[in-house]
Amino acid sequence: MTTLNRKWALRFVALAQHIAEWSKDEATKVGAVVVGPDREIRATGYNGPPRGVRDTVARQTDRDVKLLYTVHAEDNAIDQAALIGVSLRGCTMYLSTLMPCAGCARSIIQAGITSVVVPKLDVPARWKESIGAGLTMFKEAGVEIFCLDAPVRVKRKRAKVSAKKAKKI
Ligand SMILES: [Zn+2]
Repeated sequence: MTTLNRKWALRFVALAQHIAEWSKDEATKVGAVVVGPDREIRATGYNGPPRGVRDTVARQTDRDVKLLYTVHAEDNAIDQAALIGVSLRGCTMYLSTLMPCAGCARSIIQAGITSVVVPKLDVPARWKESIGAGLTMFKEAGVEIFCLDAPVRVKRKRAKVSAKKAKKI
């Protein structure tokens, strides 16, 4: 059971939101910060192409093509830690915007990260299935979800995903 301090959670989410701005993706900018138990930053990431891979206009503008060439912020943070040999076991991942997709949820679980903090629980309709699967895997694997905002808000054009286990900090 992880206990998080709201003041520090706000700081790390704000840092993730700052790092999100480093993404060249005009449509979606996501940032991630992975923090150890002593509040030490172990890895950061934002969405973009892998190192050395070109971000051409076609890869930026066609959404289906972009998804093939883009590493999500969460995966990028985990990959950065792997590159320099830093363990993320028992760490907390702070995100700039939404819950992780299913692919990033799998990576988070496998990296040993034990809690995830998001500013809000809104889910865009097109990500509902993926994020829903991620939440299911987090629940089964024991990864705790924390949210800075009030419980799930339902907005027009947005789907609601059950995250009843999410704890408000
Ligand atoms: Zn993802």
